[in-house]
Amino acid sequence: MIAMLSIQESLTVLVVDDQAVPRLLARAALESLGHRVLESADPEGAVRLFMQSRPDLILLDVEMPGHDGYWVARQIRAAEQGGWTPILFLSGRNGDEEVWRGIEAGGDDFLSKPITTTLLSAKLRAMQRLLVMRAKLLERSEELRAANAQLRELSTHDALTGLCNRRAIDERLHQEIAACRREGQPLSLALLDIDHFKRFNDSAGHVAGDACLKQVSQLLTDACLRPRDLAGRYGGEEFALILPLTPRSGAMTYARALLRTLARAAIPHPDSPVAPNVTLSGGLTTCVPDEATTAEGLLLRADDALYQAKAKGRNRFFSYEMQLDTEEQLHQNSRL
Ligand SMILES: [Mg+2]
Repeated sequence: MIAMLSIQESLTVLVVDDQAVPRLLARAALESLGHRVLESADPEGAVRLFMQSRPDLILLDVEMPGHDGYWVARQIRAAEQGGWTPILFLSGRNGDEEVWRGIEAGGDDFLSKPITTTLLSAKLRAMQRLLVMRAKLLERSEELRAANAQLRELSTHDALTGLCNRRAIDERLHQEIAACRREGQPLSLALLDIDHFKRFNDSAGHVAGDACLKQVSQLLTDACLRPRDLAGRYGGEEFALILPLTPRSGAMTYARALLRTLARAAIPHPDSPVAPNVTLSGGLTTCVPDEATTAEGLLLRADDALYQAKAKGRNRFFSYEMQLDTEEQLHQNSRL
């Protein structure tokens, strides 16, 4: 619609005058210039017609019985909220005072009757220029708004996987520490690493590597079932999961389910000593945050647990607090 406006040559002009002859003259002049004309003979009718037809421009008589042209202009300005329709006043009087009142009431120019086609043509062209400039400005501000939204997205999301980036994870972790502390609820954090991802890339190439990262990311996104769960890419083949309201045992159950889902997805790994398919190692830490809890502390513990999961043979999660991995826990449970 904005793009159309910028090339619009023919305007729809609303002519408001209580007298038939000036209306007729204005219509003849406007039509000879190729514009469409709407007419109104009274102030209230003019406001109604404006609301219904939204003309591009208004020629507005000042002296009318009942409400005058200034009243009409104020009604229109109040009604168009954020929009702008040029208003040209027409008056038999042309003192400085009249012009001042017209502009004050929201008019854009003031012409004295009788108007000539040449003058009208020139004034309309000036207004058209303003309309085009305004349309361009609106277009620019829309572009700016879109660019800003994209920048915001880029500053918090990883371009390859669409997951939250490290910055967004850190920010959310701080928020959840504060929230879980207030609520007295457990907060779990997992740091995850795709096993032998370097060997994947070396063997299958970076394009396949990127595809693998995307697949794993999608899987992590799908695993965030509750509204406050968050999956993010921490960097390279490292991911993080923030799981608020999740106790140690719940986090371990969650981790095992995640490993099962990944196994079922069966993403082939061309060169892994662990399994024929892509596997993950993860470090878990869980606490009910208190005054001493920091994001850095949680990340250090999760990282420590991740190191242990790798040392114990990968394809498993290790819980820092339980000093146990998902495999050991499974065997313990089956012995019970
Ligand atoms: Mg009049």
